[in-house]
Amino acid sequence: MMDEFASESDSDYTSYWRDWFISSRGNEYFCEIDEDYLTDRFNLTGLNTEVQYYQYALDLITDVFDLDCDDEMRETIEKSARHLYGLIHARYIVTTRGLAKMLDKYKKADFGKCPRVFCHSHPLLPMGQTDIPHQKPVKLYCVRCEDVYNPKSSRHGAIDGAYFGTSFHNIMFQVYPALVPPKSADRYVPRVYGFKVHASAALIRWQNNQRSDMLRRLRKLEIDSGFKEEIGDEDLEEEDEEEEDLDLEAMEPDAMHVLG
Ligand SMILES: [Zn+2]
Repeated sequence: MMDEFASESDSDYTSYWRDWFISSRGNEYFCEIDEDYLTDRFNLTGLNTEVQYYQYALDLITDVFDLDCDDEMRETIEKSARHLYGLIHARYIVTTRGLAKMLDKYKKADFGKCPRVFCHSHPLLPMGQTDIPHQKPVKLYCVRCEDVYNPKSSRHGAIDGAYFGTSFHNIMFQVYPALVPPKSADRYVPRVYGFKVHASAALIRWQNNQRSDMLRRLRKLEIDSGFKEEIGDEDLEEEDEEEEDLDLEAMEPDAMHVLG
């Protein structure tokens, strides 16, 4: 990344740093921070102690860097600038303007799609597991299954999670509640030649009973459970009657040959 950058002429070096940063390979998760946000010192409170050569780094980000220095120093400042950009990014993306920019990227699935089959390629959002830098890399959150995934590419997998923070993805769905899809009861049921595998069938039956109890309680309290199609009691009874689950352990060895 440095090489691409260093090969540019000096006049290009100080121009449009953010454009360059955003369009660099591996930086697809970042949105462009507004000039107005960067020049309001109030937004950057406390960051001067987090970053080496803070002022030079900020000058670089805002395209006013004019220090005459050697390559080594320039590289150090460049590295600081990237770190500073990330730290400001975490603050910026929870502002109204920042959320709107990240929403655009989310809609284009710039952060990738959920790998879970039943999520049907639902777009993901970047998230940090901690707000402290240099602790944990960025992860991806799926609002549909409410689970967290590793980025597919190692370039993305190496990005500091603190550049997105622990709150951004949750704030996004609070500000734009229409983005939260209805809950679906779709899930994988393990089967062997069409028969439900006994142990997991028992677990699924138990889970379904728990869920129906919960739904009944919520209905009594007149609270919407958020499930797309509420599981009717009929379905559950049907599950209960299904006694043809395959119990591998209870089977005679001979019986296994039928399956083989
Ligand atoms: Zn998912």
